[in-house]
Amino acid sequence: MTQNSYDVAIVGAGMVGAAIACGLGPTGLRIAILDRSPPPPYDANQAPDIRVSALSYASEQILRNLGAWQFISAMRTCPYQRMGVTEKLDTPLSFAGAPLNQTLFDSTDIGHPYLGHIVENNITQLGLHQAMAQYDNIDLLCPSNIKSIDFGTPHPTVLFTQNSQSDKLIELNAKLIIGADGALSKVRDWAAIGMNSNQYEQQALVATVEYQGSQQDITWQAFTSTGPLAFLPLMDVNKKHYGSLVWYDQPDKIRQLMAQDEQTFMGEVSKNFPSQLPPLIGLLKKGSFSLVKRHAQDYIDQRVALAGDAAHTINPLAGQGVNLGFQDAATLVEVISDAHTQGKDIGLVENLHQYERLRKIENQKMMEIMDLFYHLFSNNNPPLKLLRNIGLVLADKLPFGKNKVIKYAMGLEGKLPKLAKPT
Ligand SMILES: Cc1cc2nc3c(=O)[nH]c(=O)nc-3n(C[C@H](O)[C@H](O)[C@H](O)COP(=O)(O)OP(=O)(O)OC[C@H]3O[C@@H](n4cnc5c(N)ncnc54)[C@H](O)[C@@H]3O)c2cc1C
Repeated sequence: MTQNSYDVAIVGAGMVGAAIACGLGPTGLRIAILDRSPPPPYDANQAPDIRVSALSYASEQILRNLGAWQFISAMRTCPYQRMGVTEKLDTPLSFAGAPLNQTLFDSTDIGHPYLGHIVENNITQLGLHQAMAQYDNIDLLCPSNIKSIDFGTPHPTVLFTQNSQSDKLIELNAKLIIGADGALSKVRDWAAIGMNSNQYEQQALVATVEYQGSQQDITWQAFTSTGPLAFLPLMDVNKKHYGSLVWYDQPDKIRQLMAQDEQTFMGEVSKNFPSQLPPLIGLLKKGSFSLVKRHAQDYIDQRVALAGDAAHTINPLAGQGVNLGFQDAATLVEVISDAHTQGKDIGLVENLHQYERLRKIENQKMMEIMDLFYHLFSNNNPPLKLLRNIGLVLADKLPFGKNKVIKYAMGLEGKLPKLAKPT
């Protein structure tokens, strides 16, 4: 094997790509993982970054089993115990300050101290990079600017430069290329894998805010006919409380909110968000995202596999994107490790089928659930409005169904890959 021949080349060292590298580390396979840029270093005094994810309990188990959680939790995470779902009505149905048409999911109902943790994406990625550094068989090639991948050679050839300024081409080849290069995956294009996509009418605005009072342990989502409004508590920094607001609305409204100065924007927030919002005292940052559902037609082909956002992007309204990506990572690691142990060629499509079989249906199911929520709540149809509010009141009173949803939110329902099982 020459210096530039690898068993696996992973394109994208984001959360999903780095998780796959960590999972394959113990196999001894020779792995290259390439990315344009490394995650920024951790600064304990810096306020939370705008890109955060609610990591389920199952994702935490995967990160523990990959050896990354110890690094992540040594930086910062914010556990949350409760999750509220309500509809914001013009005349609120409330009792003692709490909305009556709210379903509250509480992890203590199934004897667990928390549902999951909110973590900045950079921190999750950094923790995985720290775990990855312990393996001599993993080469992190970063920064790398990939020019092309030729799947026509017996083992695909990757051509890249060390940064965007350099024009010196470097070549490597690998038995298997893994595309973990995000929603706009070039690996997917180079491998000629088709994709179905659909842009939602709504867009999302995410804002990091500082709030007063006690540290919140609840994430909530209030549906309105123009889109949901959500709150996620973040980690305290230097004893200050931070939270993330997500405002889903029509593109014109999001553009208008993005253009507003801090005072006008905070005024709009207090006018529109429900009363559960803790008192806000400052805006740190806001950003907007278009919402696109994408699903690769195939997750695998000869000598290629796609994972995470490269394979699917989902409406973030239930915060499932990277949680599904970690399930992909754990399943792909299991399938490749088994093939390697059995002496099979890990790049052959017939040895990767199990990965696609296990993950594609699960991801499709979650996309359909998100679409159902999106269409059920994003309208002002009176009978539907009545029905969904009766549904929310009833759902709160039915422990069996609630416990099932709690398990679903924690990622504990369905067939779990080995890496997602508590050790
Ligand atoms: C508003 C919003 C809120 C969200 N909230 C949540 C949440 O609460 N919970 C949740 O689970 N998910 C959430 N998500 C989704 C989550 O952010 C994504 O699912 C996740 O970031 C996908 O991770 P990934 O590693 O697959 O891709 P990415 O994070 O996109 O990483 C891809 C990596 O590949 C690298 N790369 C790309 N192209 C190349 C190339 N040509 N050469 C070299 N490197 C390359 C990039 O630099 C990057 O590091 C949210 C998304 C949005 C938009």
